[in-house]
Amino acid sequence: MLMSKQDARQNRNFHPVSAPDFLPLPQLRDLQWQRLRAIVQRADEHVGLYRKRMADRGLKPQDLRGLEDLVHLPFTEKTDLRDTYPFGLFASPMKEVVRLHASSGTTGKPIVVAYTRQDLRVWTNVVQRSLAACGLHEGDIIQNAYGYGLFTGGLGAHYGAEALGATVIPISGGNTQRQLMIMKDFGVTAICCTPSYFLHLIDQSPECGVDIKELPLHTGVFGAEPWTESMRRRIEQDSGIKAYDIYGLSEIVGPGVAMECVCQAGPHIFEDYFYPEIIDPKTGKPCPDGQEGELVLTTLGKQAMPMIRYRTRDITALETGPCECGRTLRRIRRISRRADDMFIIRGINVYPSQIETALLKVEGALPHYQIILTRERGLDVMEVQVEVTPEVFGDTVGALQSLQEKLTKSIETLVGLRANVRLVQPRTLQRSEGKAKRVLDQRKM
Ligand SMILES: [Zn+2]
Repeated sequence: MLMSKQDARQNRNFHPVSAPDFLPLPQLRDLQWQRLRAIVQRADEHVGLYRKRMADRGLKPQDLRGLEDLVHLPFTEKTDLRDTYPFGLFASPMKEVVRLHASSGTTGKPIVVAYTRQDLRVWTNVVQRSLAACGLHEGDIIQNAYGYGLFTGGLGAHYGAEALGATVIPISGGNTQRQLMIMKDFGVTAICCTPSYFLHLIDQSPECGVDIKELPLHTGVFGAEPWTESMRRRIEQDSGIKAYDIYGLSEIVGPGVAMECVCQAGPHIFEDYFYPEIIDPKTGKPCPDGQEGELVLTTLGKQAMPMIRYRTRDITALETGPCECGRTLRRIRRISRRADDMFIIRGINVYPSQIETALLKVEGALPHYQIILTRERGLDVMEVQVEVTPEVFGDTVGALQSLQEKLTKSIETLVGLRANVRLVQPRTLQRSEGKAKRVLDQRKM
């Protein structure tokens, strides 16, 4: 159920905190330039790694003449955060750092990020603007089911929602029955969590005697994992809410780097604080607007840990066309692909989101799936397990076979590979209470 453009305009509910979202472009570019100059100066003065890399290129901060010179600066990568663990990229002394977060990290040491008081104000501001952008305001009751703790999701969403004047329920992740009970009993109007966890809540709701469609819940702020447009449609259909995509990453600030407005036309980047570029991930060369590549972000206001040209590994494109909402902030195409999630099978690059799109195209398939990679006699094998509706599962063997063939074909058409599709009963695949793990790679290296 897409909102008509007219509805979107009427629904704009302009909130004063959103004023920077509508800055005329010349002013926005000027603000970005002033902030960029200051941040490069700061990084050069206080962070050894940046100073060295600038020096290696024979660059000084004062060599920058405008925003367009940003392309000459060196990239920063995730490995830089690991290599300088824990505090090597801090540009503020510890006495000015008031908060640390860390990523769980799949291998070895986590990456650590730091915030000064001012950084927390900026973070709160962008999350507040994010929530305002999708129409939330005072009086909304927000169930914050992002994990609280070292992960940036919980506290990031929390302070932004409080600043907005909404009522925050800091429930954190997990304990699905209690989530549903509180959602119903407290009259929750909006929820923040990963899209896969919300699917799980939808799934469990009948057992808990809750009909989500009958609740006051109208908005979902979903992020922290890539998800597809087909997944959005399923969520909206099955719950009757509007599902919005919030984008962020701890290295840059946490949630609130970009957020969709009521037009649902891709997240607007809060460009006054985060400057976006798209590069060719292979060559590192800038891509023209509209072309897909890797998103690179420069923090324009971060004191404790400035990030210059940080390579996010997220694949997207910059949309520069006007948005119906009137924001001048550029949008990114919804990120459904992360370079890190890509797997190679028989020489073909595959993203879990492609499998998701292929599955959800077919009626009878549920948005719960798992990809299992194995190697048989030296050959890569991809098995896709997908839950199907109880109706299909109770149907004839012929009907099941026909669905299996349709799904196999849908994947083959989209990915160019034949997968072994295995239909499983509803609610048999493992659910995640945070970020979904879609791929199980059991191939021995
Ligand atoms: Zn918009």
